[in-house]
Formats: sequence, C-alpha cells, structure tokens
Amino acid sequence: MDRMKDKVCVVTGGGRGIGESIVKKFAEEGAKIVFALDMNQEILSQLQNQLGENVRGYLLDVTDRPAIEEFVRKVKEEFGRIDVLVNNAGITKDALIGKMQEEDWDKVIGVNLKGVFNMTQFVSNLMLENGKGSIVNISSIVGERGNVGQTNYAASKGGVISMTYTWAKEFARKGANIRVNAVAPGFIKTPMTEKIPEKVLESIKSKITLGRMGEPEEVANAVLFLASEEASYVTGHILDVNGGTVL
Ligand code: NDP
Repeated sequence: MDRMKDKVCVVTGGGRGIGESIVKKFAEEGAKIVFALDMNQEILSQLQNQLGENVRGYLLDVTDRPAIEEFVRKVKEEFGRIDVLVNNAGITKDALIGKMQEEDWDKVIGVNLKGVFNMTQFVSNLMLENGKGSIVNISSIVGERGNVGQTNYAASKGGVISMTYTWAKEFARKGANIRVNAVAPGFIKTPMTEKIPEKVLESIKSKITLGRMGEPEEVANAVLFLASEEASYVTGHILDVNGGTVL
C-alpha cells in the first residue's frame, strides 16, 4: 500500500496509543519519513527500533514554542517540506467544575489547545511556502457533546474543532492546497482510557451502538484517509469515529 508514498509526516504524541498506530500506519503506507514526537525517549527508541528506517523518534513538548520552531527548521533543512501534520498529543486532568484546580485547567488547555495552535502555526508556515499540505487534528466526542468531569478537556477539544474550521478557510486562500480536518474519536482502548474505572467503562459501553470500545487502529484508518490524497476534496470536516456513541 502506498497512500503516504514519499510524504514527510509529523505525528505529535506519536509514541503510544492512537499516535503510535498513526505512525505505524503512515510508515506501512510508504511515507518517506514519519516523525513521531513524544516526551519519552525510551518509548521513542523502542518505536524506532521496531518500525525501522522511515520512522524517527523526536523528543518534543508541544507547549515548547522555541523547540517546535527548531524542529521545523531542522526538518526543512533536511527534507524541504512537511506534507502531513497530525496534532494528536493530548492529556486529561478530570474533575467536576467545583473541584477543578486552576493548574489542571491550564495544563490541559496548554497541551490540547495551545499545543495544537503552536504546532500548526510553525508547520503551516512551511506548508504555505510549499503551497500544499494536509493537517489532521485529533479532537474528541467530548469536544462535540461535553462530558461530566471534563470541563477543561471538553473546552480544549471543542476549541480544536473551531480551529479546524478556521484553518480550513484560512489556508485555502491564495490558492494553497492545504486541507485541514479533524477526527473525533469516541472511547478508544489506550493508556489514556486505562485510567477509567471498570464501572464507568461498563456505563460508557452501554451508550455505544456497536457495544464495544474502539481500537487505536480504527482511529488511525480515519486519519490516514483524511491525510491522504483520497480525501483531496475534503476540508473543514470533523469525522466521528465513535462506534455510534450517544453521550
Ligand atoms: P495516550 O495518553 O495514550 O497518549 C498521549 C500521547 O500524547 C503520548 O504519546 C504522550 O507522550 C503525548 N503527549 C502528552 N503531552 C504531550 C506534550 N506536552 N507534548 C508532546 N506529546 C505529549 O492518549 P491516546 O492515544 O488515548 O490519545 C491520543 C489523542 O486522542 C489525544 O489527543 C486524546 O485526547 C484523543 N482522544 C482519545 C480518546 C480515547 O478514548 N483514548 C478519545 C477521544 C480522543 P508521553 O508518552 O511522553 O506521555
């Protein structure tokens, strides 16, 4: 399969969970190089050994603007372009609104919302220079419908949807072929959802039409479609991958 043939791809939070599946999928689909960005060197080294030459781990915190600028400069120097950006890195720090610490609001907004802004600002400058590119943001069903105990997370993921619509419009101006879409996953089996207590999980499953949680690869398939030329006439779209979940 070669749906990512010769593409230079960047996946934030690419070391584990959904991000790892996206990195694997892009590599299998013939990407020239997939940069897996993450904050854990051990995980990145394992991933790189496992997946081989066209995957490169890179330590990067999406809240660190100078580090992002430096990363984009290095990629430009070596490859001249970034074809695909997947803004996948995300965290949760859940609490009911009355108990949510300001620090936890700031952290979640900092990574999930401002991190997406940071990455897109620097990467889109390079895409605009080249006149083409594809950006896929990972939002969440919670950003569309809200969820008890997730004020910060819902706000961040709702913001990601609004930024997706905005950038689809902004980047299509002046004839640039830069598409921006988002995937809104439901409940997916990853280290992030391992923290959810069994009782809560049972209640969540009862609201999923397909009756089960999703697999990371099922999200990666949707990301691959939107990132690839198969979606050449799709922009400003939010693709639900949630097994028919009704929150
Ligand atoms: P995981 O917790 O398994 O993985 C999150 C990844 O993000 C890790 O690789 C982590 O790196 C990385 N990360 C966290 N903070 C930063 C940062 N500041 N800079 C760079 N990387 C960072 O999460 P999932 O795979 O489950 O989630 C991936 C995305 O999908 C997230 O945006 C999440 O909100 C979204 N999502 C997940 C759902 C689910 O059910 N799992 C449902 C809906 C949306 P490290 O290894 O260093 O911690």
